[in-house]
Amino acid sequence: MHYFDAQARDLAELAARGRGRRLIGREGADFASNDYLGLADSPALREAVVAALARGVPIGSGGSRLLRGNQTEHEALEADAAAFFGRESALYFSSGYAANAALLGTLPQRGDLVLFDELVHASAHEGMRLGRAETRQAAHNDVAAFAAAIADWRRAGGAGRVWIAVESLYSMDGDLAPLAELSALAAAEDAILLVDEAHATGVYGPQGQGLAYGLPTGNLITLHTCGKALGCEGALVTGPAVVRDFLVNRGRAFIFSTAPSPLMAAAVRAALRIVGEGDALRRALFDRVRTARAALGPLGVLDGPSQVLPLILGDDVRTMTVAGLLQESGFDVRGIRPPTVPAGTSRLRISITNNVTLADIAALADRLATLISATETAAA
Ligand code: PMP
Repeated sequence: MHYFDAQARDLAELAARGRGRRLIGREGADFASNDYLGLADSPALREAVVAALARGVPIGSGGSRLLRGNQTEHEALEADAAAFFGRESALYFSSGYAANAALLGTLPQRGDLVLFDELVHASAHEGMRLGRAETRQAAHNDVAAFAAAIADWRRAGGAGRVWIAVESLYSMDGDLAPLAELSALAAAEDAILLVDEAHATGVYGPQGQGLAYGLPTGNLITLHTCGKALGCEGALVTGPAVVRDFLVNRGRAFIFSTAPSPLMAAAVRAALRIVGEGDALRRALFDRVRTARAALGPLGVLDGPSQVLPLILGDDVRTMTVAGLLQESGFDVRGIRPPTVPAGTSRLRISITNNVTLADIAALADRLATLISATETAAA
């Protein structure tokens, strides 16, 4: 028993602070997944995977891409993705987490500055921790703060390249980055703009290419996770060919990891085709988003345009209590606590997907209204 004493103590401490986590199943209406377009379990994707199996696409890759793991299907996906996103090249990673680790961990060099939005995802922080560049944080979506941070750094003698790391649609706040202004700032500073499109890919852009689509591309790198609206797994990094070549040569998360399943690469290819012709799917999603915002806005959901609707309750215990009661009532809504979000901003992250009906949304709003006032009374 004593072998894991330190871990047991840590768990007990987390539990005492109400921060313990546990895995729960998938019951109730889906107000929690990132399967925004409802593709993950769709007949269209299933059929594509069955067809890929039938034409002989292997399940396992058998090794790193740099060894024998490099398969036709990976390269075909990357060619499709480069065309879809309108970029010179694309590289497929096994996850967005690995892609961010490789991007931020290897592209910025010693003497460079990575300037990141304070709300970027944990995987971007992982990359920055691995990398050799200096890192500084800027206030969320505050372009003037980004510009001031660059000026400060230069005044203090910073002479290297600046890398601006942002998301296009923030996963826990549901708001959008001022990408046009950030791109202009990057151009003016000779900086590179890294945009994590995890929650925008498939949902935004003329054919689901994301929010950075149409920006000047010379200094732009985008990351598109495939486990959200694309309904699959993995991530595509797009940009100039030199960036792809560099990641193949220097990206440790790419080099020292077994290549993703070729079957999954085939599924992602199908998902790109589906979202490319997915206007009806996006219309269906935004019908739901409009309904949800009208019904949930009065309950205090943060204003915004997107399919991610946060209801900040602040208190951890109340947040988890309301989430638990919603789950018991058949609504799969998850509570999000620090360290995923800043202290004091625990929230329900209500995610709208095509997996729910307009009636589900109305029923959720009713139940949530009751629970909010019930827990207000309890808290008072
Ligand atoms: N970036 C963002 C903004 C994310 O929300 C996530 C996943 N939640 C990731 C990267 C990591 O992607 P993956 O889940 O494919 O590892």
